[in-house]
Amino acid sequence: MKNLSPRQQEILKLIKQKGNLSVEEIQKAIGISQATAYREIQELSRMGLGAKIPGGISQIENSPTRCVQCRGETNARTLFIIELKDGEKLSACCSHCGMMALANNPNVSTAMTVDFIYGKMLNVSQAWYVLNSNVVLCCSPSILSFSSREDAIRFTQGFEGEVMDFPNAQKNLNQMMTLIQL
Ligand SMILES: [Zn+2]
Ligand SMILES: [Zn+2]
Repeated sequence: MKNLSPRQQEILKLIKQKGNLSVEEIQKAIGISQATAYREIQELSRMGLGAKIPGGISQIENSPTRCVQCRGETNARTLFIIELKDGEKLSACCSHCGMMALANNPNVSTAMTVDFIYGKMLNVSQAWYVLNSNVVLCCSPSILSFSSREDAIRFTQGFEGEVMDFPNAQKNLNQMMTLIQL
């Protein structure tokens, strides 16, 4: 665990056992003040180890996963999952954020994306991408993933955009993001 105080580890253990904890339960279990309990909740949710709920904290599995790149909510239609060499898994809200996160992480073991039509997982390097179509579900410029080039082309006939393989999609995204920052 990354730099957790013994108190935070204790709270985390309780969250795992019970699913969620109220501020009072934390106060009683650890023997701390209400203000301190709130502070610990704040801190644990900031580290992504728990989710704040009204008057307490719950296990992160019970709440929507946040995108590693933009902190937006992830959704099953556009999910992008990066597995690091140490086994840690990062979720991104869409291929846009996923590709940005890939560029920021040198220790990637595998990365998967979801086919926009069929909803099945694809290896990132085998997927085809439509950049800049009219369908913007979360991040812009939008990037959608497809398992076949034919599907991607058919999609652009209705919703515009450009069909690219993985290296080109990544290159283009980088260029577009650099232009936005200028
Ligand atoms: Zn995102
Ligand atoms: Zn997104």
